[in-house]
Amino acid sequence: MSRLVMKFGGTSVADLERIRRVARIVAAEAARRPVAVVVSAMAGKTNELVAWTDGAGGAAAGLPMSDDEYDVVVASGEQVTAGLLAMVLRNMGVPARSWLGWQVPIYTDDAHGRARFDEIPPEKLVAAMDGGEVAVIAGFQGMTRDGRITTVGRGGSDTTAVAIAAAVGAGSCDIYTDVDGVYTTDPRIESKARRLARISYEEMLEMASLGAKVLSTRSVEMAMARNVPVRVLSSFAEPGESDGQGTIVCDEEEIVEKRIVSGVAFSRDEAKISLYGLPDHPGVSREIFGRLADANVNVDMIVQSHAHREGAANMEFTVGKRDAARAVEVVRAAKDIIGFDDVAVDEDVAKVSVIGVGMRSHAGVAKTMFGALADKGVNIQVISTSEIKISVLIDAAYTELAVRALHAAYGLDRL
Ligand code: ASP
Ligand code: MG
Repeated sequence: MSRLVMKFGGTSVADLERIRRVARIVAAEAARRPVAVVVSAMAGKTNELVAWTDGAGGAAAGLPMSDDEYDVVVASGEQVTAGLLAMVLRNMGVPARSWLGWQVPIYTDDAHGRARFDEIPPEKLVAAMDGGEVAVIAGFQGMTRDGRITTVGRGGSDTTAVAIAAAVGAGSCDIYTDVDGVYTTDPRIESKARRLARISYEEMLEMASLGAKVLSTRSVEMAMARNVPVRVLSSFAEPGESDGQGTIVCDEEEIVEKRIVSGVAFSRDEAKISLYGLPDHPGVSREIFGRLADANVNVDMIVQSHAHREGAANMEFTVGKRDAARAVEVVRAAKDIIGFDDVAVDEDVAKVSVIGVGMRSHAGVAKTMFGALADKGVNIQVISTSEIKISVLIDAAYTELAVRALHAAYGLDRL
């Protein structure tokens, strides 16, 4: 049987009892084929370690200054769980050993706190796995070419798992988490939401970046680039019963049962900024969005329209809630240079999106969406589209109503 990489996140290894449960799931697979397991730190551990580095005056990750000692501290959470899981497996009679990033080795660049994977020579791991020993790998960490420890960004263990799967040529990368797969929408909002047996990489990318927190965006990007089949599974399932369970994230061509729309996603982490009375001439957008980019503000949806007044335009765009105040500050500071009358911000908005690769070849997807929203009296403020996604910005109070209406309109209740 082909090699398997399994990954367990922080909640799945939160205490010894759960680590024992994980060990039973791993043992069931290891009886059938060569296995590597990637683990996160115990839930909450990494936050605690980050707080320690703050207290010690280290430069937090994400800041321009790169701090190699930050990585030494925060990488330690994964070392603990790797060792514990290997220990528990051995006590069950399953040959196992832990592997830290530098022991594999997992080479990364030297952007401490947010390093990118570079190269993973697979020989040592493959020899151990094929020799029947479970390789328990500390996720989230790597090392630079000159031997310093790195971490690959918060939530990075998913990406470690996919990178390892690509390196050892695994037949699947099984990501165990606290949900049992990818759903047509959030089951907490729509009880008729269904688990998808398969979803394409591209659809999953849209879902992931829209806040369906099942897989990290980077891990899906890497899986797509390296063509690694990923399976999302529940770590609360019974050991040895993973066959046919979960959701497989794979190439579009491998999905037999085609759908036009696969899912409805939403995000409440949105703020809408409106600029009124802009001059209508070339260079205005460059001025606005150049300044926002320099201030590290990520802009999502953008619409521009003519104002009533001759030669004037209005512009609306959305940013994440935590960037809203900064975005307003940035444009306000350049009010005279940009030349607008007024700026307003609205945080009571939500973005609802329908996603599906079938949109590429089917007409009428937008019509269905706008019809369903109109029937419920939901007003659309901003629209944006991509090849496989239509998003609308609406009043946040209507989020659940809109999600349910769209879920029904595309027949996702009856998959
Ligand atoms: N432990 C790391 C974090 O909390 C990596 C991960 O869990 O994926 O960000
Ligand atoms: Mg995670």
